[in-house]
Amino acid sequence: MSLIQKTARLLDGAAVGAGIRNGLRSRIEAFIEFAGRPPTLGLLLAGDDPGSAIYVRSKIKQSEELGMETRLEQLPATASFSEAQEIVNTFNRDVTIDGILVQSPLPSGMGDDAEQQIFDAVDPAKDVDGFHPSNVGRLVQRRDALTACTPSGVIELLDRNGVQIAGKHAVVIGRSDIVGKPMALLLLHRHATVTICHSQTVDLAMVAASADILVAAVGKPAFVTPDFVKPGATVVDVGTNALTERLEVERIFGLESKKIVAFEKRGQVLCGDVHPDVGAVAGALSPVPGGVGPLTIAMLLSNTVSAAERRAGLA
Ligand code: NAP
Repeated sequence: MSLIQKTARLLDGAAVGAGIRNGLRSRIEAFIEFAGRPPTLGLLLAGDDPGSAIYVRSKIKQSEELGMETRLEQLPATASFSEAQEIVNTFNRDVTIDGILVQSPLPSGMGDDAEQQIFDAVDPAKDVDGFHPSNVGRLVQRRDALTACTPSGVIELLDRNGVQIAGKHAVVIGRSDIVGKPMALLLLHRHATVTICHSQTVDLAMVAASADILVAAVGKPAFVTPDFVKPGATVVDVGTNALTERLEVERIFGLESKKIVAFEKRGQVLCGDVHPDVGAVAGALSPVPGGVGPLTIAMLLSNTVSAAERRAGLA
């Protein structure tokens, strides 16, 4: 056995995200010339979740850097569901708004199924998150659709890193409506043989270890350990978990890790669903942060441009 520890190739989401954004510039210019206004994204931010506020700021900043326009509507945590619905209805009616984004999570006071109801209320032609049942149905049927940003970002990450999908065995851990299920469908449409795993899957590590492409969307820090991974496999880490306990940071990353320094500075660090030791087994691995995260926003911008073009009859 070699004494040199192999290290997985890095799937750099920041670089791929920059490539996607650059590719949008000429389409945005062409749209502005045709329509006399930039592609426009309406955003609804309800409540006081600090993470949501950061995401929304980043979405606005990146949209505006590309010359797109944004309109932000905010509601307090005490707002009612009908106030949120009214904002979405106004965005739906406004012909100068091309895409609508409702930042998740909505305040708990709006009710258990508020999120599903508000996603259902968005005009499917402006549904840049790809969560409306009409777009989900079209995705199932492999028809033209606005598709969920995180899974479509993963496909871009694989494609732009030359990872072959057709004919490969892809295992997706997680079956949520926003990541796991659309991820599995996109891989299936690209001719992978797809297995979807979840909390009731028996022998999960063994199933995962048969994957050529393993996508982890579980929401549990460092859940995927080296025994889940076939040597040389491509591993995509969708998880974004905040570690707030120093002991947990030490246990996962080790005492010498830069993450300890970062934890000392900020009191928390981000950790994916994939254990750092997987880097010694996998052939390619997306980091957290800097892997799938930047692609989610890049695909949101891409969906907004696509929605604008389709609404203007340009695509
Ligand atoms: P979710 O709705 O909580 O779904 C998690 C999935 O993981 C569920 O299907 C669940 O199975 C499965 N699961 C939970 N425990 C498991 C276990 N012990 N064994 C096997 N499967 C298990 O989460 P999500 O919204 O899909 O997000 C997943 C992760 O991705 C989170 O960390 C989230 O923060 C992150 N995320 C990142 C981005 C990004 O831009 N990077 C975007 C979206 C989400 P059941 O269905 O059986 O409960």
